[in-house]
Amino acid sequence: MQRCQKLTEENCVPTYIRIALPVPLRRKYDYMLTPEQPVPKLGGRVRVPFGSRDMVGFVVAVGVAPEIDASLLREVITITDAEPLWPEPMWQLLLWAASYYHHPLGEVLTHAAPIAVKQGEPPSYTQIKRFLLTEAGAAVDINSLKRAAQQQRILAALQKGALSAAQMKLEEFSPAALKALQDKGLVESEQSLPKFEKWDGALLEQPHALNPQQAVAVGAISASLNTPEQNSTSAGAKIWLLEGVTGSGKTEVYLQVMAEVLNAGQQVLVLVPEIGLTPQTVARFRDRFQAPVIVLHSGLSDQERLQGWLQARDGHAAIILGTRSAIFTPLHNLGLLIIDEEHDGSFKQQDGFRYNARDLAIKRAQQEEFSVVLGSATPSLETLANARSKRYGHLQLSNRAGEAQPVKSGVIDLKAQRLHNGLSDQLLAVMQKHLDAGNQVLLFLNRRGFASALLCHECGWVSECHRCQANMTVHQQTHTLQCHHCGAQRRIPRQCGHCGSTQLITRGLGTEQLEEAIAKRFPDYPAVRIDRDSTRKKGQLEDYLQAAARGDYRILIGTQMLAKGHHFPNVTLVSLLDVDGALFSADFRAPERLAQLYVQVAGRAGRASKRGSVLLQTHQPEHPLIQELVQNGYQDFAQTALTEREQALMPPYAAMALFRAEATEKSAAEALLQAIHDTLLAQQTAAGHNGQNASNAYGAPEVAVIGPMPAPLARRAGRFRYQLMLHATSRAPLHRLLQASMHLLETLPQARKARWSLDIDPQDFT
Ligand code: ADP
Ligand code: ZN
Ligand code: ZN
Repeated sequence: MQRCQKLTEENCVPTYIRIALPVPLRRKYDYMLTPEQPVPKLGGRVRVPFGSRDMVGFVVAVGVAPEIDASLLREVITITDAEPLWPEPMWQLLLWAASYYHHPLGEVLTHAAPIAVKQGEPPSYTQIKRFLLTEAGAAVDINSLKRAAQQQRILAALQKGALSAAQMKLEEFSPAALKALQDKGLVESEQSLPKFEKWDGALLEQPHALNPQQAVAVGAISASLNTPEQNSTSAGAKIWLLEGVTGSGKTEVYLQVMAEVLNAGQQVLVLVPEIGLTPQTVARFRDRFQAPVIVLHSGLSDQERLQGWLQARDGHAAIILGTRSAIFTPLHNLGLLIIDEEHDGSFKQQDGFRYNARDLAIKRAQQEEFSVVLGSATPSLETLANARSKRYGHLQLSNRAGEAQPVKSGVIDLKAQRLHNGLSDQLLAVMQKHLDAGNQVLLFLNRRGFASALLCHECGWVSECHRCQANMTVHQQTHTLQCHHCGAQRRIPRQCGHCGSTQLITRGLGTEQLEEAIAKRFPDYPAVRIDRDSTRKKGQLEDYLQAAARGDYRILIGTQMLAKGHHFPNVTLVSLLDVDGALFSADFRAPERLAQLYVQVAGRAGRASKRGSVLLQTHQPEHPLIQELVQNGYQDFAQTALTEREQALMPPYAAMALFRAEATEKSAAEALLQAIHDTLLAQQTAAGHNGQNASNAYGAPEVAVIGPMPAPLARRAGRFRYQLMLHATSRAPLHRLLQASMHLLETLPQARKARWSLDIDPQDFT
């Protein structure tokens, strides 16, 4: 067929295409196809000249009228993909995300694609090969391989079904052990990867008999599924909040609903917090169903990620388990999306393309019509508000499953008490009792390192980071001072940097110091410290957790890492040593986070048949938040907090956006935000003159633009940081204003001396 010469011509092939490139600009670029090139599909990649180099971009429109003089257009170098990378609904979601987050489409698409694809490689399988047991392998007794632990692991995994080469790599099985099993004739390989059609219903473990609340939840969610069988009768796919106290058996609910979905031949996507994606989590899903499970997380190599992505997209994988970015996985036939610990902060991306995976999941569900389950013991106030207004279904599990009993809560008033490395006499006595009774104790302290600062006893000098407005943390084990904001390190000085005195002392208890103190005080009870420093080595966290669960350690000391998901049947006492900081934080979400943390940490106690206790050490026992939490629990806290947010016009009863700017020169960062401020205000005024309603009933602007002001962490890694806040009582005017202004902001001359970014629905204000 002929190339069109004019745009209006019919029966010819279009010449001009529009491309989104991975550059920080919102505009798209037009290119010309050569006569030999086929017309690419929307969402396919092309290689084009850009400036003096080549770039891979995504086709966003074909047959367009060029935005510049057609004779100036450059030619496409190669068409990389004959087919779109994403199925249509996923493509629509990505377009929506770029406009909602006001982020350049090219960067959004590049972010959503696996890295190997970003670099222009064709998305092809390198490992369409799967491993399965031979007849001899199926007959062999696993225990006979006791002395070859690696081989035993592989055999045990394959007994649950064949695994693709990519899955074998994800599981980190030893290639040598695999080879040995093949040589023994126990395992064979096949050059094929079948599609997942329908789960055959084979369960690898016996499910629990559901308690009444679990049964209600499974029934309600199952009835809302958009499976081929249900399609005619279902009320349409639905969003569910599954609010269940820790240990109430939310996972059992997920698993039983998943069975329905898999049975209908549909896929399930499960998102978990970054810290929650442990081999135990994976095992809970793999141990139940004889169906292919794929795991996607940031620790994979580019090729591994791509292989997993392809298996999900093309329908080889039945269950896809991943962290935040797995929300961008295209799925052949998605039937259900589960977000476990939906309140967790890690679902929000904090740099670059700052999306919220939970919010994208809801949008995706509406477009593709599948059900979503948001599970948590401590739902975010956003989600609770949606449940209250009946936009989400609300299911509750109010009792612990099995024999586990509710946790007893108590407060230790620290005022005027003697403290021994952060531990009160009262706490020490209770610890002793629990330890002597043969149980485990967990101490929570969210500060790693030995101490939060080093200071001079003579002149008051403090060990500050040269590049940040923050103190450096003392790390005794590595003999260093470390900045937790920029990563700077130096040796612990012997003398004060100001007066030369050798009388240097530390302030602020860290986990290293606590570990040391505990070892002295309870020499007969082995303790372990679990934080980012102690678990840097790959597999170390797993080893510690398993040893702790086995009872090798009697005292567990940990940060945030220990707060989530783990199951320690013999922990009967949990204590939060120092969380008062959150009571005085300027961040309006600090109370919500403290409440969630408290409940999550408390949930580690008494998960088996023994009753657990949680003790909170505080200087503020009469603080309303502490009172509410300890006496009435999370639900009452959330109720009060939502009312407060509503009265104060804060999210979820308002929309926010945050501009951030940083520069090596203080004035440059501030000036840039001032220019953004002025541009936004001018746009608002102009919109008002054009008759669009830019002010509310009281004549105040619909969108308040607040700032610029210095960020709470006013300097980081040598750069000064400023913020500009946008606040509106609903989303629409806020997005209208940004929509009208973004192209103007890109060309501000002040942006040459400072970097800026925009955060929609910001979670973090540091
Ligand atoms: P959650 O995710 O809500 O914290 P889990 O799913 O981890 O809770 O369940 C806690 C424990 O209760 C697990 O050991 C699980 O096997 C067990 N459990 C779940 N449902 C039941 C049930 N209906 N009967 C008995 N035990 C159950
Ligand atoms: Zn000094
Ligand atoms: Zn620093």
